Amino acid sequence: MMDLQNLTIKKARKLLTDKEISARELTAYYLKNIEEKNKDINAYLEVFEDALSEAEKLDKEGIGEQPLFGIPMAIKDNILIKGKTCSAGSKMLQNYRASYDATVIKKLKSAGAIFLGRTNMDEFAMGASTENSAYEATKNPYDLTRVSGGSSGGSAAAVAMDGCLGALGSDTGGSIRQPASFCGIVGLNPTYGAVSRSGLIAMASSFDQIGPMAKTVEDAEIIFNAIKGSDPMDSTSSSTPDFDEKKMLKIGVLKYDKNGVDEEINKSIEKSAKIFKDLGYEISEIELPNIKYSVPCYYILTPAEVSSNLARFDGVKYGLFKEGKSLTEDYMKTREAGFGLETRRRIILGTYVLSAGYYDAYYAKAQKVRELIRRDFENVFKNVDAIISPVSSSVAFKIGEKANDPLKMYLEDIFTAPAKMAELPAMSLPVRQAGIPSGHNAEGLPIGLQIIAPRFGEKLLFEIGKKYEHDTSKNQMA
Ligand code: GLN
Repeated sequence: MMDLQNLTIKKARKLLTDKEISARELTAYYLKNIEEKNKDINAYLEVFEDALSEAEKLDKEGIGEQPLFGIPMAIKDNILIKGKTCSAGSKMLQNYRASYDATVIKKLKSAGAIFLGRTNMDEFAMGASTENSAYEATKNPYDLTRVSGGSSGGSAAAVAMDGCLGALGSDTGGSIRQPASFCGIVGLNPTYGAVSRSGLIAMASSFDQIGPMAKTVEDAEIIFNAIKGSDPMDSTSSSTPDFDEKKMLKIGVLKYDKNGVDEEINKSIEKSAKIFKDLGYEISEIELPNIKYSVPCYYILTPAEVSSNLARFDGVKYGLFKEGKSLTEDYMKTREAGFGLETRRRIILGTYVLSAGYYDAYYAKAQKVRELIRRDFENVFKNVDAIISPVSSSVAFKIGEKANDPLKMYLEDIFTAPAKMAELPAMSLPVRQAGIPSGHNAEGLPIGLQIIAPRFGEKLLFEIGKKYEHDTSKNQMA
């Protein structure tokens, strides 16, 4: 059998259309990898029994032209697939079966993608390490003593361990980009509204976005193009307007406090800026004065939305039910048994900031600061076309290192939350530096680079990302 390692969606599609491989063979290859690796890594919570038969169906019908036809993918456990369990990493929804397809799933189905299984995540997407999953953490494929990042750590690890060709994650404050950087893959958080949220189990609705996770920028682009677009089921969605492509591009390098950031990450930003300069981009340093308030405001606004979104899990409508002596006790017992500690912490925090007397002091004020952060970006985008920054202040950390310190864990979002405050698209991609194989640090752990663009600037991110990826993989071989 041919060597299928290092296959990308692009390459696999060629093999499929040239009839050098069948969708069944391709799917069987990934299922075998999952069987070998998942017991150590815990990227998948469930592997779908019908994956192989779905692939066979496609082979029988004849391999179509669509760019995802016959491509085996992994789906984060908060995106509904009709008839399949969807637990959002929570005990609350352990036995919940989706009664309809999320819009992104409908789109992927009609594009001919194959779903291998559902991937692990922090409960209701709250966390930065998957340690908040009710089903144990996902380990980093590069070092099993470390986290895969989160909350889409399962999807990131599934791609990195070669357990699928691409995956869907969701990003509320960094949950696609940070695990992508910890696992050495590409992850895109789309512009708010670029991808329908219908069928995504809500965490914080004014922040949540579904996005692609893949091995290359090109593959992430293929998945994004298949799932984007306005949807009557999500009134905040919109079609992506064509982005103006320019010849000469200006890239702003974010000025940030280098003290709290790993030295090798600081260096990777400097090197990346140099790479862009050599590629012909104009480089300047930019400042976003109010983004230092992103994390504090994010942890007021998102818990507020969480407390409201998670109110529906009351033992009556969905999921778990624990009976008490009264209706109130039913609610209390159900929610105590169904939700983990972090989820409860956020519900309490959110209820507090929304309560009479505190609403103006916290929630309303954080909304105002969100507006200031938006304006900061707007001003900077008058002078530059895109911004580069770290994704995270460190490489993948050890399992248990931050699990008992919520504030430390919240600081994981320091570089990823700002783009979410301003509803901007942002991509994480592996830093590949000359002499350092595939962008890893001295211990062999991946480092990511973040590129942020103006609203609906996904195309721009892909263009810049592809140039960077191409140039750095050339350097890597030199
Ligand atoms: N780490 C962030 C949080 O815990 C981000 C989560 C996310 O993007 N879903 O809220």
